[in-house]
Amino acid sequence: MKKEELIRIRYFENEVKNKRAFLRNEFIAKSKNISDGEIKKISIGDLQLLFNLYDKYFFKNYFKENFRGKITFSLSKRMTRSAGKTIVPRINASLEEDKQKYEIRIGINFFFQYYELDREKLVAGAKTEDPLHALFMVFEHELIHFIEFYVFGDSSCKNKRFKETAMSTFSHKDVSHSLPTNREIIDKSLGIKIGDKVEFSYEGKIKNGIINRINKRATVMVLDKGGNYIDKYGNKYSKYYVPLKGLNKI
Ligand SMILES: [Zn+2]
Repeated sequence: MKKEELIRIRYFENEVKNKRAFLRNEFIAKSKNISDGEIKKISIGDLQLLFNLYDKYFFKNYFKENFRGKITFSLSKRMTRSAGKTIVPRINASLEEDKQKYEIRIGINFFFQYYELDREKLVAGAKTEDPLHALFMVFEHELIHFIEFYVFGDSSCKNKRFKETAMSTFSHKDVSHSLPTNREIIDKSLGIKIGDKVEFSYEGKIKNGIINRINKRATVMVLDKGGNYIDKYGNKYSKYYVPLKGLNKI
């Protein structure tokens, strides 16, 4: 297979499903950390293994046999919105292949926290069945970024070219995910969010107001003629810092 052919791969949807199923079996058999669909622990070695398997099942070992650049993998606990990221130095495109560097970074919290919310979780347009399936879909998305950077020197999943390549290679129908984010998990577990009306007791009296901020405590704005805060309608408020446990939604 030639470099240019990487972006001309066409698999039918059922072929993709078959390949992914074989890949999953082999991954589970070889991973030291993952033994079923759940992800409790993951290493950089797991991502390297995943890359080698995608190369084998989807790219006819093109990368093993021809790629002379360097691809590395990393895990991040700080990614709050993207579940994956492909990082390429700006000068890459002007370098000889053997000097090119690529990095795929995975935001691991999304997979550790997969079950924290009981709802449908889409990745790249597919309803995922478990954290491992979600990881595969995110990884596939990043592989398309990687291949675009490698072949064209740039990549954006907003572009038509990306969407077409992701569709023909992996049957991806979308470029986003709806995996639970930290923010969403916190909001859900407390049952409150910014803008909610709440009541709480303060010095023996019940007060009610609107949540303005949530940190360790919530900031609640309570209507008060003598208050120091004023909104654009001229209403005056006092500010209260209330422990989250002391709030009731109304
Ligand atoms: Zn993307």
